[in-house]
Amino acid sequence: MKINYFPLLALLVFSLASCGPAQETPAKEMTDAELRAHANDLAHEYLITDGHVDLPYRLKVKNFRLDKEYLGIPIQTDEGDFDYQRAVEGGLDAPFMSIYIPSRLQEEPGESPKLADSLINMVRGIAAAHPDKFRITTSTEQLLQNFADGVMSLPMGMENGSPIEDKIERVAEYHAKGIRYITLTHAKDNLICDSSYDTTRTHNGLSDFGREVVREMNRVGIMVDISHVSDSTFWQVVEQTDVPMIASHSSVRHFTPGFERNMNDEMIKRLGEEGGVIQINFGSTFLDGALRARQDSLREVFRERLAEAGLEYGDEGTEAIEQAFEQEFPTLYADVETVADHIDRVVQLAGVDHVGFGSDFDGVGDSLPTGLKDVADYPNLLYTLLKRGYTDEDLRKMCSGNVIRVWKAVEAAAAP
Ligand SMILES: [Zn+2]
Repeated sequence: MKINYFPLLALLVFSLASCGPAQETPAKEMTDAELRAHANDLAHEYLITDGHVDLPYRLKVKNFRLDKEYLGIPIQTDEGDFDYQRAVEGGLDAPFMSIYIPSRLQEEPGESPKLADSLINMVRGIAAAHPDKFRITTSTEQLLQNFADGVMSLPMGMENGSPIEDKIERVAEYHAKGIRYITLTHAKDNLICDSSYDTTRTHNGLSDFGREVVREMNRVGIMVDISHVSDSTFWQVVEQTDVPMIASHSSVRHFTPGFERNMNDEMIKRLGEEGGVIQINFGSTFLDGALRARQDSLREVFRERLAEAGLEYGDEGTEAIEQAFEQEFPTLYADVETVADHIDRVVQLAGVDHVGFGSDFDGVGDSLPTGLKDVADYPNLLYTLLKRGYTDEDLRKMCSGNVIRVWKAVEAAAAP
């Protein structure tokens, strides 16, 4: 069948000229295909930040070096959850590069700051090698400018305050090196505060030094990240900080009962009242308590299987057992809808101004949910949220508006 498109085209040109976006079809009247296309448009129209991407540590583990042979990896690779091409496809504009410092390093003085510097240099080197694609980003002004220029921003957040060691002047030094948030601790209590994963409860929250660190972060303009901290630490940070906080990559504990690494309802409400943002972690075990319980019990079963063969976790020669185990107990995943459930609950508790995305891409192995497997999949998340009735403006806030608001507040409160 031949159709004359001309009148349609004329109508379109006329409507674009005379009406503008206010006359667009409301989301609830769109077909499924239109809604998907709209979600994809929004992913590229809006600035998207992601609070936590573990690219630097993934590359570190792979012995990435800043030379010609390796420099294509951050641009295009079959491995991991992040590369430039997939990020562009997904509309991601500003992944916070995680400068991740494992807790075990804090036992050896000097090791944590050494790793921090090497990861910061790696991110700087990647940006320097691809100036048309990436820019190190240390202010909201740069963030917005890079977006306007079509260049991906690489802000840096340090996951674990352990490189500060007992030297308060390091806070300002890391600010000068480009760090714009610090996750106060990681898997263990450190000199600053207690961790959600550590039952020692060394300080029952923040130490005196930790209070000083939070004050100094406020003073120099580094966002305080309460992901990974214990509940007592959270409540004491709320009392200490003068500016809103972030959770760079945490989810909602309501869906994972007993998992202190996620935030409970009272904490989410208070974070919102203080003007902060929780950026939802996409890892399946952060999203679904049943999957978490299953994985915990399977870990025991796997250890038993290894023991039967006279092996331990981490030994060489476990591949065959691993493969058989994976066939017997295939990995189960949460779904992109589960991520939307977490977002819904934060919106009910604290409002749409207090939620964002903190995927933990490259940091949670292959446990990512169906429909949200890597940085190309943000449009699918936006589609899921549109289907649930969120407006374009709601999505703009979740994509980056909320995080930019907090970052600006932290910049404004910092000493000049
Ligand atoms: Zn983490």
